[in-house]
Amino acid sequence: MQMPIIRAERVEKYYAQPSENRIQVISPTDLSIVAGEIVALLGPSGSGKSTLLRMLTGLSAPSAGLVYWHEKPIATADVNVSIVFQSFALFPWLTVFENVEAPLKARGMDPAERRKRAMKILDTVGLDGFQSAYPKELSGGMRQRVGFARALVVEPEVLFMDEPFSALDVLTAENLRSELLELWQKKTIPTQAIFLVTHNIEEAVLLADRIIVLGRNPGHVRTDFKVGLQHPRDRKATAFTQLVDYIYKVLTQPDAQPPELPQTPTGKKVRDQRQMHYQMLPHARPGGIAGLLELVLDHNGKDDIYRLADDLAFEIDDLLPIVDAAQLLGFLTVTEGDAAITPTGAEYANSEILRQKELFRTAAVTNVLLLRQIVRAIEAKSDRTVAEEFFHDMLDEQFSEEETLRQLETAINWGRYAELFDFDASRRRFIQPQNVQNDAEPGVEIRE
Ligand code: ADP
Ligand code: MG
Repeated sequence: MQMPIIRAERVEKYYAQPSENRIQVISPTDLSIVAGEIVALLGPSGSGKSTLLRMLTGLSAPSAGLVYWHEKPIATADVNVSIVFQSFALFPWLTVFENVEAPLKARGMDPAERRKRAMKILDTVGLDGFQSAYPKELSGGMRQRVGFARALVVEPEVLFMDEPFSALDVLTAENLRSELLELWQKKTIPTQAIFLVTHNIEEAVLLADRIIVLGRNPGHVRTDFKVGLQHPRDRKATAFTQLVDYIYKVLTQPDAQPPELPQTPTGKKVRDQRQMHYQMLPHARPGGIAGLLELVLDHNGKDDIYRLADDLAFEIDDLLPIVDAAQLLGFLTVTEGDAAITPTGAEYANSEILRQKELFRTAAVTNVLLLRQIVRAIEAKSDRTVAEEFFHDMLDEQFSEEETLRQLETAINWGRYAELFDFDASRRRFIQPQNVQNDAEPGVEIRE
């Protein structure tokens, strides 16, 4: 068996909380990177892709477990990797040449050698003639070329990329992808392995020799497989679309089996989100949910999520929260990547706005614990108002601060739309909605 360049053994990441619970971001994970492979790490946003990448590069230490570089602990090894970021992360005050030369300077290389290497790589990535330009003078695509040049100039053994094409327009991204693939295949660059983080399934299937799909809450490997397709790959080929379809299915299926509860070194159980009290509200807007339901209805009430995303010109990442939300509200069911509208969902899609609000209100109160609790709390108070802080404190037992804020934002958005409550942003309080018409009682049945 080939010796891995990088090997992660039972690595975990968790963040301490003021309370005794921890936020587990990555559950214990084993993962190896071997020479000769392009590995793509796919997963929904927030699943921990960047966190895992940072641990594999040695940039960030795991909370538990170890990462090895050629079988030596990475913290003390002579690591040769570089990272290309989505945001380019260039120094705006340096020219293209100076940006590319910077990592060599940091390694103490003498000026003549630096110059030679920087000029050569600028030429390789198609930046000759741009050496004295500043980043702000360049288009996004050219800036990312600088990002690639700066990463490649140190001749990294492993090249890491974190959504490197996500900020670029479609054509520019396609262009850069094929140029990178050509450099790799013709061995113009001495890089031994490429590790690509992406949320774009087609990008993964287009480039990777091996695909790892990450699930979230906490991040864990759902599937890890080799891609046997020959290059150049044809997006329209059956084998290609079948693979894309398969990955969509993996991504859209709820976790089949929850993994073991990980134990922390102190023996304290780390919370597993699946056993938590509150559901994670998908960050989708009611308008988006309505739009999706209308489209599904238009497709005879049932369609492949892949095709729906395609029709909407959406990335899976943008569509999944909407699908999740529609599912949570009982408007949609999802099996093996096919979304099917429910009778309530169909009624919702067909109704005018007031009826839609009623249906949403019933669905929200029936299915979403947090919204039900807010409504109850308002009713229980004689002044018919309750502080946001109260719910913040309950949610942050379970979610990170960032996620708690997003959960509240979504709850406010849904509650306002459904006229379950209003929110006074200056006092940060939930209040009874203004024009509540009790005679228009939608027949909400509050179940425990
Ligand atoms: P991805 O790259 O897949 O979008 P990330 O690795 O950036 O995901 O983040 C994974 C999860 O870790 C997110 O839910 C994020 O909120 C959480 N997270 C990141 N940093 C911290 C932190 N300092 N404290 C608590 N949670 C964090
Ligand atoms: Mg990320």
